[in-house]
Amino acid sequence: MAGTAVRGRLTWQTATVTSVVSETVEVRTIFLEVPDWAGHRAGQHVDVRLTAEDGYQAERAYSLASAPGEPVAITVERLSDGEVSPYLTSELRAGDEIEVRGPIGGYFVWDAADGGPLLLLAGGSGIVPLRAMLRHRSRVGSTVPVRLLYSSRSWDDVIYRAELDRPADGVAVIHTLTRQRPPGWTGYARRVDAAMIAEVAWPVASEPLAYACGPTSFVEAVASALVAFGYPARRIRTERFGATGQ
Ligand SMILES: Cc1cc2nc3c(=O)[nH]c(=O)nc-3n(C[C@H](O)[C@H](O)[C@H](O)COP(=O)(O)OP(=O)(O)OC[C@H]3O[C@@H](n4cnc5c(N)ncnc54)[C@H](O)[C@@H]3O)c2cc1C
Repeated sequence: MAGTAVRGRLTWQTATVTSVVSETVEVRTIFLEVPDWAGHRAGQHVDVRLTAEDGYQAERAYSLASAPGEPVAITVERLSDGEVSPYLTSELRAGDEIEVRGPIGGYFVWDAADGGPLLLLAGGSGIVPLRAMLRHRSRVGSTVPVRLLYSSRSWDDVIYRAELDRPADGVAVIHTLTRQRPPGWTGYARRVDAAMIAEVAWPVASEPLAYACGPTSFVEAVASALVAFGYPARRIRTERFGATGQ
């Protein structure tokens, strides 16, 4: 049994795209049919491999956007000068095949049994694994209190906006828009900083669990602010997507 699970995680498999959904102008959610899928935990990712006609291969990691038990999905932001994300977001269609391996990762995961309260901090597409955690919480009927602080460039760049506009009971979603705000915007309008963390974070005494995900610079700034606020490092889990803008 363990052998099967290991083989499933480490072996490249051909996945078929079942549908592609637009989240924002630059972001698509890609639903995949993976024949030998062993199941996953909220927060894990897959590796995606593309092979060009001349044999050149490129691999990138993408967080799983769906909760355990839901159809496998990834959500990809298009970086116009990137190698892989423009193909995934602009070229891929239902019926196409890509190679994946996973699920991968045992650290940046949340199971309802891990409890909370939860502080989720997302920068841009860093929302993806946190969304899987929120969906997992709902699916299993968890009542763990959650605060999600989500930093986006503009309101139009907010991924899963409709879903986040109707949070489950016990979930508070707080947005900050770093570059452009709609008229009349009264929310945060700057990058996440220590003052914002102090206003949004659960008190240290409530022994919260924090998950921060996004561009490396975002994650490092947020994690430092949380430590300065008094969160023990062992209660802060981080996932860095690389030097992508936010
Ligand atoms: C665990 C994990 C999970 C992730 N999950 C997601 C996810 O859910 N959604 C998502 O959208 N992304 C996710 N990412 C990021 C993803 O793996 C890719 O890095 C991203 O899609 C960009 O890939 P790309 O091939 O399009 O861009 P790349 O070709 O890799 O380029 C990325 C950026 O780096 C710049 N660059 C490339 N080469 C150089 C160079 N030599 N010098 C200077 N700059 C350079 C490019 O201009 C571009 O802006 C995740 C990353 C990790 C590690």
